[in-house]
Amino acid sequence: MTKRQSNMWLRMLSLLLVCLLLTGCTGGTDTGVQPGLIPAAQAEETPDPNKKTTGVGFYFDTVVTLTLWGAPEDLVNEVWAECSRYEKLLSKTIQGSDVSRINNAAGQTVTVDPETWEILRRAKDISALTGGAFSITIAPVTALWTFTGVETNVIPTDDKRLSMLHLVDDQKIVLGENNTVTLPAGMQIDLGGIAKGYIADKVAELIREKAYAGIISLGGNVYTVGRKPDGSRFSVGITNPEETYTYKGIIYTEGCTVVTSGTYERGFNFGGVRFHHILDPKTGWPAQSDLVSATFVMDSSMTADALATACIVIGSEKALELAASQGLDAMFIKKDGSVLFTDGFEQKYNYQ
Ligand code: ADP
Ligand code: MG
Repeated sequence: MTKRQSNMWLRMLSLLLVCLLLTGCTGGTDTGVQPGLIPAAQAEETPDPNKKTTGVGFYFDTVVTLTLWGAPEDLVNEVWAECSRYEKLLSKTIQGSDVSRINNAAGQTVTVDPETWEILRRAKDISALTGGAFSITIAPVTALWTFTGVETNVIPTDDKRLSMLHLVDDQKIVLGENNTVTLPAGMQIDLGGIAKGYIADKVAELIREKAYAGIISLGGNVYTVGRKPDGSRFSVGITNPEETYTYKGIIYTEGCTVVTSGTYERGFNFGGVRFHHILDPKTGWPAQSDLVSATFVMDSSMTADALATACIVIGSEKALELAASQGLDAMFIKKDGSVLFTDGFEQKYNYQ
């Protein structure tokens, strides 16, 4: 097993533990139903809310954990099928994906899936809203860096890095009618900062439609649907950037997403400096703001995903302004360990 694989499995194991902690215990899969009291057909239509199902998958280079209550037997597999379908559309490394086709089109127009088109539209809007701090056209710059955390870490030369910056501008993505996309030759896109949010939204829709309650976690994107069968809200831990297997705090939510971007997620330390995977589109260098973690709690996981990434770039002052201007709930952790909240956040989510 390579070091990277063993890291991945270690992470999967710890995330599974985290997931179990997050979702608490509702008495396993014992439904408490006496055999024969409910006709089989009816029992199948309305699974017992207490019946808990869990699953762990690996998509988008990320561990995905799923916990469902009162779900039909096949829902976990349906979720994995959706994750796989989205990976095949949105991954920049899978040949033939929409993103690969856009990146390889050399200035030509391509027709994409309506969902890909919609993600690009939202990405472009959020890029405008954040003054370009969020830019999916960061791809030619991310391609110069490697943040795997093992021997292969790469810091690009200044020449290389600076020569790519003119290719970063989301407003140059042309979104035409009938789901067409035209990217100027040389430019590339990377949906790593938004795709998981979109998928979390879609999985949440599935859970809402078919199960009593549930929670999905795709890396930094958590979506909680409904309440646990005992009536309590879900608890979601906010990772402590200094000690990533502990929590800085816990919040209690129902029916919304909690999305965190952190400089601790992917990266490496070299010469006393933290090199991490969230790049400043203006410099092509890992964002150097005063923030190490940004969290949004809201309805749209896609928007939260992109905004959280942008906030790491723009820093605490502008991040608080941005959240307030959009009427959104957010919390930010600064390099010095202090925590900032938008108004009322701690009370609303019972932050502890
Ligand atoms: P994670 O993927 O760990 O949840 P984020 O949601 O913050 O973290 O997204 C980071 C990913 O987004 C990077 O790995 C890269 O693919 C891409 N990215 C890096 N910098 C930016 C940026 N300034 N704007 C948009 N996407 C970015
Ligand atoms: Mg993001």
